[in-house]
Amino acid sequence: MPAASAIAAAVLDRYDKLPKKGKPALRGGKRPEWTVLAGIVKNVAQGDTEELECIALSTGLKCLSKSQLPSDGGALHDSHAEVLCRRAFIKYLYSELELARAGKSKVLEPRKETGRFKCRESVTFHLYISQSACGDASMGALERSQPEDARAENESKKRKWEESNMVDVDRADGTISTGQDARPNVVLGDLIQPGLRRGRNDYAALGVLRTKPARADAEMTLSMSCSDKIAKWNVLGLCGALLSHFIEPLYLKGITVGDLYDHVALQRALCDRIEGLKDLSPGYRTTQLELQASPIPYNWSKASILQAHPDAKPVSGDASILWDANYPIDVEVITQGRKQGFAAKKGVWHEKARAVAAVSVKALPETLREIDMCSATYGECKAASTDYRRCRDILLRHKFMGWVLTPPEHERFLIATGTAQIVRGKSQTRPSSTSGT
Ligand SMILES: [Zn+2]
Repeated sequence: MPAASAIAAAVLDRYDKLPKKGKPALRGGKRPEWTVLAGIVKNVAQGDTEELECIALSTGLKCLSKSQLPSDGGALHDSHAEVLCRRAFIKYLYSELELARAGKSKVLEPRKETGRFKCRESVTFHLYISQSACGDASMGALERSQPEDARAENESKKRKWEESNMVDVDRADGTISTGQDARPNVVLGDLIQPGLRRGRNDYAALGVLRTKPARADAEMTLSMSCSDKIAKWNVLGLCGALLSHFIEPLYLKGITVGDLYDHVALQRALCDRIEGLKDLSPGYRTTQLELQASPIPYNWSKASILQAHPDAKPVSGDASILWDANYPIDVEVITQGRKQGFAAKKGVWHEKARAVAAVSVKALPETLREIDMCSATYGECKAASTDYRRCRDILLRHKFMGWVLTPPEHERFLIATGTAQIVRGKSQTRPSSTSGT
């Protein structure tokens, strides 16, 4: 296992080399912006030597609330650094898949038995985050770091908001409805359904699912916290349902965390909660992560800014950046879930992922050969990943009841184009943030 300092340095050095666009700055020339930084570092072990390289990197701490979600689905719901970083990593893997098909990838190699590709034995992946993941891993540390008056103010805002608002919850099938048929005004409060809490509500409850935190006086989000998502990756792997047609489950080896590091909470939130799952599909397993604290500060974290400027009132940065090592000069800047300088009608679907549909039927894995890739939707291709879907169902049924699922209407875009299309008489939407998750 590489040292925490080496993993953090690989990400921070790469971050420093990227252009300023999309990075935190002084807002109005006065208030410093802060953000969260996440990176995935590839380690290639050869004998006693280790070669570290940051291959995916993102910043961000914003998440769209339900009413901010565009009706066409063409925006990223969740722009937290960890989630965008995994998105950058998936983009990286699509490029590696192309290289592997040509016999040129140093990361993936073919596996004859399954017809898919697998990660080479010598390669491991490590996640760095400048601040502990939102949700279960950081509730205690966050609470301890918050002054009493700020905590009281938040509680008061929260109560006022809850008295005047309600959320749409469909408790019958365990999911929150977001479509036109959502039952309005059903329930509110800390417990929105069994096992699920809204953001930081009921902070003392440990080991529970939480939606992404939003301002105490704002509408809730429909995205699961980063703690919950990382725990899910520790069972289903980093690839997601679509890429799982091509690549065998691929897991993180460890996590290096900057601010709010709490070893016990990280162990519980990311690893212990998923232990004991049985009968997973071949290749899938529950993963124990190696957890380390980063000794190097990230200069644009809230804690670093407050330390350097105790009188400053830091404000959370609106923009996110997304970068991967296979496109080193291409830095995506994302605000309000949209890629800057990129036509909204093009959606947010990876161009690389479209290549999935472009290969000949012979080159498709068995699980996709029965599907007409010209007219297939993203949701249909995901559903055809039966091993992945089976494991997800086992995880949600046995450990994560209450998980908020992506509304199906956000996955009805054509995989070949990623753009709005009419298919089978229905108006199709562009991809959402949850594409690729
Ligand atoms: Zn988060």
